[in-house]
Order: sequence, then C-alpha cells, then structure tokens
Amino acid sequence: MSKITRVPGYMQSKGNRNRGPIGDREIRYKCSMQNTILDVLRARPGWQEVSGPNTAANQQQPGQKGDGDWDFYWCDREWLHANYDTMFLQEHQKILHFRNHYELTRKNLMVKNLKRLRKQTEREMGKKEAESFDFFPTTYELPSEYHIFVEEFKKNPGIIWIMKPAAKSQGRGIFLFRKLKDITDWKKGEYQPLTDPNREVPETYVVQRYIENPYLIGGRKFDIRVYVLVVSYNPLKVWLYRSGFARFSNSRFSLDSIEDAYVHLTNVAVQKTAPDYDPDKGCKWATQQLRQYLTAKHSADAARKVFQGIDNIIIKSLQSVQKIIINDKHCFEMYGYDVLLDSKLKPWLIEINASPSLTASGKDDYDLKYGVLNDVLNVLDLENRLTGKEKRVGGFDLIWDDGPVLADDGSMECSVNGSSTTANSFLGCHSERKKQLREIYTAAQALKKSVAS
Ligand code: ADP
Repeated sequence: MSKITRVPGYMQSKGNRNRGPIGDREIRYKCSMQNTILDVLRARPGWQEVSGPNTAANQQQPGQKGDGDWDFYWCDREWLHANYDTMFLQEHQKILHFRNHYELTRKNLMVKNLKRLRKQTEREMGKKEAESFDFFPTTYELPSEYHIFVEEFKKNPGIIWIMKPAAKSQGRGIFLFRKLKDITDWKKGEYQPLTDPNREVPETYVVQRYIENPYLIGGRKFDIRVYVLVVSYNPLKVWLYRSGFARFSNSRFSLDSIEDAYVHLTNVAVQKTAPDYDPDKGCKWATQQLRQYLTAKHSADAARKVFQGIDNIIIKSLQSVQKIIINDKHCFEMYGYDVLLDSKLKPWLIEINASPSLTASGKDDYDLKYGVLNDVLNVLDLENRLTGKEKRVGGFDLIWDDGPVLADDGSMECSVNGSSTTANSFLGCHSERKKQLREIYTAAQALKKSVAS
C-alpha cells in the first residue's frame, strides 16, 4: 500500500487542533465501496469506520458507531438519490455527489447543457468567443432529435457515427455505423416497448459524430482520463489533479472494421476482454508520460496547448451546469473526464463520470488512484489543517476559484479570456514544479528514442 509521506501544501498547516464541530475526536466515515477508497479511508490516521446499511462495514463491530453518526460519507449515486431529499445534514458533514450530478454525467444532458451555454455565449459575447465551446462532437439525443439527426446525416454522406446509450458506461450498448439502414434495424429493436415488457419508454441514446482521425501512438488509439475535484458550484471552485492516464486500445486503429470494439473503444472494461490482452503490459500510460511524448514528438508549446485545451474543456463544462446543479456546501464531486485527441492534437470531450472507476488494474494504477483519493481527503480537509489560501494540495492544483487561478511562479504561459497570463494548471507535469519542465524535456528525449527503436 502506498504511503504519502509529505503532501505539498498540506504541511503549511495550522495544526491539528481546532477541528470546529468535530473537535478533537476521531473523524467517523462511511463508505459504500470495497475498493481503493476504502483502503485510503482505513489507512487515514484519526479516522474511524462506522457501519450501517449500504456500507463496506455493514456488520457493526464492537467499538464502531451506528448508522447516521458520521462526518464523511463516500456513498454511491443510488443511495444519494434515494436519501438526499429527506436527509438533514449537519454543519460538519461531507458527502460525495451533488443531488443532480447527472446534468453533467448523462451523455445527452451534458451535450444539452453545453449547447445552451454555447448559444448564450454567442448571443452575449459573439461567435469568436463561442468557438471556445467547439470541443464536443456533433451530438443528437435519440429518439427525441431523430429527425434533425437524419437531416444532418444526409448533409454528410459517408461519415461514421457512434451510438451510445445515454446512461450506460464501460462501452455497453455502443456501436458505430455509416448507413442509415443500420440505425433503422436498431430502431426496430429498441423503439418498440412491447418487445421488452419491462421497458415502458424507449431507452435514450445519443448519436454522435465519430472522431475518425484520432491521434495515434504506436498505431493505437487512446483517450485520456483526467481527475477533477469540485468542492463548490457557487462560487465555482475546481481542483485539477496533475496525474491521470491514457488508455490505449489493444488493436491498431483502422476504419475498415468499424464493428470491432477492440479497435474503437478504449474502455479498460472492453480492452481487457480482448483475446490477446496482456494484463502485465496493460494498456495505460501515465499522463506525465503522454506529455513527455508529445513534447518530444512535437514541441513543449504544442504539448502545452493540448493541456490548455483540456483546462478549457473542464471549466466550460462545469460552467455549463453551474446554475443548474443544486449547490450544497456538504457535497463534493470527484469527476473522471474522458478526453480524446485528434490527429491535429485537438482535445475532444467524450464524457464525464461522477463515479470514475476506483478499482486498480495494476500496481501503478493502484498507486495513482490511492494518491488521488488521499489528496481528495487532503483538499476537503476535515482535519482542518489548511489555511484556505492554498493553491496546491498534494497532486491537486486549484484552477478555478470563482475565476481563473494564476500560478505563483510563472512557469506555464496560457491564455485566459484572450489575454496572456499564467494558469495554475499542471496536468501531466511532475509533482515538483521547479524541476518539472527540465524533467519533461529529459524524459521526453529518452522516450522518443525508445518509441523509435
Ligand atoms: P461509456 O460511458 O460507455 O464509456 P463513452 O462515451 O466514454 O461511453 O465511449 C466509450 C469509448 O468509445 C470512449 O472511451 C472512446 O474510446 C470511444 N468513443 C466514444 N465516443 C467517441 C467519438 N465521438 N469518437 C471517437 N471515439 C469515441
């Protein structure tokens, strides 16, 4: 199990004394998951597990507190939906998920909200500014927007579209198509509620323009998982974790076999079922490794633009639901963003998960997830160690605090609202800021050589 010995930002603390309503007693937590988050919580000094229905410790142990008596709850979305409206949260209690998180995490609603903010931006600030929203592929909700989709389809003959159930995950129910006939067959099966007695209304899908020219490394497609912590929607306060990973598909990319999920879907859940999948080799790169590769292959500037583009995606998408999400000071959300690069290095938003997988696929993956989760707890700071002015806590950098957050040391140039400035964003950078650019350059050279050989 990994141990975090020194957490940057966290040790400039004001001590462990004044914990507000929690006082000096242990922090009591509940957890409905059995994976890495439970390890993190159990290893945290001064934290004690409490039992109750829907928790990992559902058998009350001697010395454990009963249900309801908790300070922190890592709950699942279903539990929150069932209980939030009748629950009274006390001052000090913190719980995972905002009430209507699905506004951002359902594929159809995410696009609807983004389209609305793009329209509003165009109305108020003009076309140019609205172009900063051009990071999600053309998407329609089915069946409700079927006719608009058909019009669009006819305008672009020959292109590939991808169909995705709006509320499913892990690549389930997804397929690619080129001909309207393929979707007619699908329509027959899906839109007739009588074929499935349990389904009263047809399942909502999104149909989306397929990105036919993904950026390839070693001939394979990948997407990037980015961890984002939102601690408040009003004002919007956003932390970005500097590590994450790129998930590669197992087979070389080709448009000849659009029915082959191993080529086109980068989900680990899909890839690990491939007959030639090698669990030791895996199919992941750390985001640092990706940044190094892009730096070496293109330039530091090109790599920086990619990651600035991802920052833009994060902020714009959160702003698109800022007025819709029911803000609650007790709630927080840890999102897993999925971003795809095209061959021109443009980042595209594929989807946002409110329950990103916390099950590790190997040791490195475990260490990464352990680190992210431990730092989530460090940022939430139930121990009351922080001053509240930190811009960095562990691997998290504060990128938005009711407005863009600027870095202290001027190490990363970027453009916020058109003017050149320095953003406090270090996605894909190593944890040590001073050394990071030099390290990226040196490692990039080595990586370039190894990929070439
Ligand atoms: P799920 O929630 O089932 O994981 P996603 O929307 O994340 O659904 O899609 C699964 C995978 O399919 C993505 O990780 C990506 O590899 C691929 N994919 C999804 N949408 C597109 C798209 N528009 N263009 C190219 N690839 C896509």
